[in-house]
Amino acid sequence: MSALGDELAAKIASDGPITLERYMELALAHPDHGYYMNRDPFGAAGDFTTAPEISQMYGELLGLWAGEVWASMGRPNPLRVIELGPGRGTLMSDALRAARIVPDFRAALDVTLVEISPTLANIQYEALVTCGAPVAWAASLAEVPEGPSIILANEFLDALPVRQFVRRGGRWRERVVRLDAGGRLAFDLAKEPEPYLKVDADEGAVLEVSAAGHRFMFELGARLVRSGGAALFVDYGHGVTGFGETLQALRAHRYADPLVDPGEADITAHVDFAAMARSARASGATVYGPTDQGDFLRALGIDMRTQALAERAPERADEFSAARRRLVGKGDGEMGALFKAMVVANRSVPAPPGFQPYSAKPA
Ligand code: SAH
Repeated sequence: MSALGDELAAKIASDGPITLERYMELALAHPDHGYYMNRDPFGAAGDFTTAPEISQMYGELLGLWAGEVWASMGRPNPLRVIELGPGRGTLMSDALRAARIVPDFRAALDVTLVEISPTLANIQYEALVTCGAPVAWAASLAEVPEGPSIILANEFLDALPVRQFVRRGGRWRERVVRLDAGGRLAFDLAKEPEPYLKVDADEGAVLEVSAAGHRFMFELGARLVRSGGAALFVDYGHGVTGFGETLQALRAHRYADPLVDPGEADITAHVDFAAMARSARASGATVYGPTDQGDFLRALGIDMRTQALAERAPERADEFSAARRRLVGKGDGEMGALFKAMVVANRSVPAPPGFQPYSAKPA
């Protein structure tokens, strides 16, 4: 087993099972052995690829999107641009380059990257050291000074730990991780059923809840209500809350067993956008979307951008058009429908580019 697997097995042997939520949190963010803490997981040599790593167009379009949102906020100066979970720093680097065509916006912005991994923070530093904008790092959003902000988060919410409850014998029990007879990590259910979960469901149904996501969205919404601005979340997930489990582990671009070698595979869960929107609204913020990533990027002009890049570098035209298709296509292996974009904003911010004005669903 991995170093973290040995540590968890020893802890479970002495203290008893841990919740799936705690397991996921440690597998990703244990200070010494967490998956993100000491590696660069992205790209062909890593475990997965993300939209900003697929094409420069992604960060460029988001940078111009931020410039338009800034204008709709009344052009505050300074504007804090905050990225949550910036990976290699690619998105921010592309966004800042594109933002040069809006000089007043570029001059107003002050960048903060919220990152828990010291390894990735170093890679982000290298990517941004020559960008010309002031850049600072923080370990959590709460540490970032308040003020009018635009917040960007690509594949951030899917890394927040989830709880799972399983319907068994007419009661809901939380999924936990224990040791099997051979001393290996194995799933089990908590002995005590959840007394407050009353929702009815078929035997075996699974309810997946991101308690950490709910807390995070409420705090983020409250911050935007207090000090102004908007936050864009792009992630894979669903727009309607329902039953079912989506936890998955990825290692070297293949699905892996989430309980084998914790700390060595990326573990994520689909984002329940409807649930995240409820928490954001409960804080007094307004929510736009979610909308499909493909529709969002097309509204932002990815087709024109693909063409412009191809005209400038004809030898790379196929590469640009393949990247565009991967980002906006809605077929198998394409991201356009699987990924969704959602904005949480102060009520004074009008519908941002790519989103319809908010209207409550008719009863
Ligand atoms: N946005 C990047 C990386 C996505 S991977 C991209 O799209 O390429 C998730 C990122 O979030 C990593 O940088 C990881 O280290 C960071 N991260 C995970 N949990 C976090 C947390 N609780 N707070 C801040 N950053 C976190």
